[in-house]
Amino acid sequence: MNTSAFAQKPLASVADRFTEHLVRMAEQHIPRGLDGQLERPLYFVRGKGQQTYHRDAPDRHRITLGREMVRQHLIGDVSRWLHVRERERLGWDRAPSMADLVCHVILHETAHAIQCEQGGRQRGSVHNDAFYAILSELPHARWAQALQQAVRDHYPEEGAQTMQSGNPAGNRSAEAPALDAVAIRRQVPPHRTYQFWHKGRRFVGTVIRYNARTITLVGNLDNGRRSKMRVPYSMAGRLEALPI
Ligand SMILES: [Zn+2]
Repeated sequence: MNTSAFAQKPLASVADRFTEHLVRMAEQHIPRGLDGQLERPLYFVRGKGQQTYHRDAPDRHRITLGREMVRQHLIGDVSRWLHVRERERLGWDRAPSMADLVCHVILHETAHAIQCEQGGRQRGSVHNDAFYAILSELPHARWAQALQQAVRDHYPEEGAQTMQSGNPAGNRSAEAPALDAVAIRRQVPPHRTYQFWHKGRRFVGTVIRYNARTITLVGNLDNGRRSKMRVPYSMAGRLEALPI
């Protein structure tokens, strides 16, 4: 197996480039005035850390997309983000791709810009009914659909897929892990090669990382496509070790 391609291309630089690309896509597809919904123009900038936020200035709105936020989405580690709970509340698809979750983050911050101008933002009550009424409308906008398609098309292949367990990525409620991090390392040691089936395709990969609730493997699907996979601890029993 050739894992060197990934070794030469650390995820940090992939996250860096994709954050820059995301900012460009947002700038390209989201009209400054949101088709008349905003009086002050909306701009996007890149941030270095996790922080992803909207700032209301007298002459403009500015949304910062944090590189660390993007990196967490690239590895599928999105448990710190609000979107799963929000998607439940809004009745949106609860098992979206990571590309769609990144779009969700952008729409969330964009909704804050509208909320500020409409006066729906109150001290101590930011994510309120007024906010969700705004956010729930945004995916229907033409620009939002164009943005979503662009992000899907350009989402880096290096991004991880999550092994489906009928449980949306990041949703902690339905399935508590039966194993802890120590036990999982014993059961699935690092640098060994495993195979398992993902949506009818055979995946062969090597463990490269242990996350809070999942293991990340890098390898290939049987169609030759290079892929990263996150396997929930609870599904570790489905990994078959291959001879070294
Ligand atoms: Zn918010």
